[in-house]
Amino acid sequence: MWERGSLRTIAIAGGVLLVAFLLMPDSSFPKPRDHASLIELLKNQQKEEAPLYAFNPFEDVVDNDARSFGPGFFNQHPKLLRNIRRDLGPGDIEWRLENSRQRLLFVPERRAKMARLFGDYCGHVIDYTLQKTGLENPYVRIVTLAEENPAIPATGVTVFLVHNLAEEVKGTYVFSSPGRNPLKIDLSRKTFLGEVGSYTTNILLRGEGQPEFTWDRYTIWQTTARNPFTVLTVPVEETLHIAVREQTHRAIREQFEANPSKNAEGLEEIVEDWMAVEEALVGGVLHALLPGFLKRHAANLPDSSIEEDLESRSHFGQYRHLRKAIEVVEDLGYEEALRMYEDYPRNFKDLVI
Ligand SMILES: [Zn+2]
Repeated sequence: MWERGSLRTIAIAGGVLLVAFLLMPDSSFPKPRDHASLIELLKNQQKEEAPLYAFNPFEDVVDNDARSFGPGFFNQHPKLLRNIRRDLGPGDIEWRLENSRQRLLFVPERRAKMARLFGDYCGHVIDYTLQKTGLENPYVRIVTLAEENPAIPATGVTVFLVHNLAEEVKGTYVFSSPGRNPLKIDLSRKTFLGEVGSYTTNILLRGEGQPEFTWDRYTIWQTTARNPFTVLTVPVEETLHIAVREQTHRAIREQFEANPSKNAEGLEEIVEDWMAVEEALVGGVLHALLPGFLKRHAANLPDSSIEEDLESRSHFGQYRHLRKAIEVVEDLGYEEALRMYEDYPRNFKDLVI
């Protein structure tokens, strides 16, 4: 009898413990707080370019000019042009781009250890970022992507972790000459994007109207880059981009309204301008938060990797205010910088440009 009672007691205690465990917030699950093994994997890895899976179905490209890669291709393939000339006979040949479509492709992260260690790091560093800044958690899920065309929840933001990311663009070119049947040629181009993380807003301008903003319900993060620090910045950087994007939209809209020329070119310039300011804020806050975190939890990361990351970003226009912003955020403090961007994004802009 006594034995049985004791067993029951144990069973109940177990049940209580289990319930308590499940009720605890996700972040209090015991997870590794040291990321040395991840750093070693990041230092010694090779970027794979296969197998390539589809992330989404082909979609029509709105901006055909930017995606029209045919002329360059045809110029580099004179034999193909000679064949077209032969089929269409003498006389003027005209060509046009009939349509172009694009989709994203990804190489899955198939190393189970890498997926686990990077997933743990993301959870840890996102918790830290949210706790330091008081920002809300925008994520509904972090998924190591293994299947094609994943479903994307309609609310919140889903993070997809992949090994490598590419874009495929398909164009149909039509060649014609008077009195002959036109020739159709399909071209496809795959480009590895080299962006370790991104969070996209689509801005649509109809005629004389106001710009309309829609944004993706997902962000794709790569587990590979030449510099380990670059990979480690992604969860912090994208979390900050997502958190401040609404202020950026507002700033763009206000400047567009104040602008005398309300056309697409004017809008493009304003968007480009503000994306660089947002990068500056995000980079400034990141540099106030992340190096200290990594010193404590990833001591085997070489110090030089931080400067190397800044140096490689300096070749891209979108990071043109980054170094200045790191100083500005250091002076202001990251909390004040975020507050200023939320209340008066123009003031922050004036400080960094
Ligand atoms: Zn960024």
